[in-house]
Amino acid sequence: MHDALDTERFYFQQAAEVLNLSQNMRVLLLTPQREVKCQVAIERDNGEIATFIGYRIQHDKSRGPMKGGLRYHPAVDASEVLSLASLMTWKTAVVNLPYGGAKGGIAVDPKTLSPGELERITRKFVDEIHDLIGPDKDIPAPDMGTNAQVMAWIANQYEKFYGFQPACVTGKPVDLHGSEGREEATGRGVITITDTLLQRVGRKLADSTIAIQGFGNVGSYAARFAHEANAKVVAITDMTGGVYNPEGLPIPHLLDYARQTGGVAGFPGSDSLTNEELFAADVDVLIPAAMGGVITQENAASIRAKFVIEAANGPCLPEADEILNKKGVLLVPDILANAGGVTVSYFEWVQNRQHFKWDLLRVRNELDKIMSNSFDRVWQLAEEKKVHMRTAAYVLGIGRVARATTLGGI
Ligand code: NAD
Repeated sequence: MHDALDTERFYFQQAAEVLNLSQNMRVLLLTPQREVKCQVAIERDNGEIATFIGYRIQHDKSRGPMKGGLRYHPAVDASEVLSLASLMTWKTAVVNLPYGGAKGGIAVDPKTLSPGELERITRKFVDEIHDLIGPDKDIPAPDMGTNAQVMAWIANQYEKFYGFQPACVTGKPVDLHGSEGREEATGRGVITITDTLLQRVGRKLADSTIAIQGFGNVGSYAARFAHEANAKVVAITDMTGGVYNPEGLPIPHLLDYARQTGGVAGFPGSDSLTNEELFAADVDVLIPAAMGGVITQENAASIRAKFVIEAANGPCLPEADEILNKKGVLLVPDILANAGGVTVSYFEWVQNRQHFKWDLLRVRNELDKIMSNSFDRVWQLAEEKKVHMRTAAYVLGIGRVARATTLGGI
């Protein structure tokens, strides 16, 4: 059994071997800059006091200010946040953004909070960490359980200390210094990568069949862009259940339905489906876009998809990775596949600092260029080094961070 940190470290060591990194450099790169664990106490609507634990882990800043999402989920703990912070360091390096990596979170189920409680918990967290974050230090963004509204509260609370500083957080609403195309960015990037991979192997996205786990920010936009490209999204699961239609699900209708009912379960004209059935579905492409650690030794052998695109962070455990590699599955790892979100976060930060807004077309063009160029670089490295794409992506990211660390000196 591996937790998220074991998984990330396993993949790190695989690449460190290929890079022939010294033991000292490995320790330096694995050790986080700073780990913060703090109390986040609020008054509930009913007057009771509720206490939660918040984390911000700043992993590496050798290539620039640290960058990473903020997760509100009951399973958030120091080990998971550190693994996600390290992934951010490699991810920003893979797509060559001038950033390091960080991650944060609060161990809370946001569904159990009223909007007022959600706002208070967010503002309280900023009160605890405001001196550690900022446009040139560490820039939070949305992740599981947080959204543009939460980012707006973060900006507003931060600005109470420091004045107008829209670049202190990204993923803000477009009406409050957010960027066009940020909300869709991760899902769009996932489909750009899928399309580029399929073209590479002489296939087409149009008419390909796709199964997606998760219908939140990432999964729903991935489904939408796949549907717009005439791929058939045949299976989707979320927290409420799953839906299957071999003819292809009508994604725009499913989006309306899930918005109204809170999930995909019970969508008319589809069969119901479990996560395990989704993984074993007879499809071309499998896109895990929900949680980490879901593709395991137990279910990897049942996967029939030829292509796995890791939209979620850390969905595939090392034993499962080995099984998929042996089966000849082509897998695009999280640090490349879901880098579209942080890439458009970077565009948002650039726009905020220049006080100049880009239109959606420019955002999409720049994003598509970075995603497909990064894919090409990883593909080429995989061929050169005779390794799978995961190791190639880690080699690219870790290599860049190691070189910056050496050049900057400690
Ligand atoms: P989200 O909270 O918007 O959506 C999560 C989805 O997963 C929901 O549809 C939820 O119902 C579903 N889910 C939860 N438990 C499930 C279960 N047991 N079975 C099936 N589905 C389940 O989160 P998100 O922002 O879409 O993030 C999803 C993943 O993508 C996470 O791993 C996150 O770290 C990663 N990611 C997100 C971004 C981003 O920009 N939002 C960027 C990079 C990576």
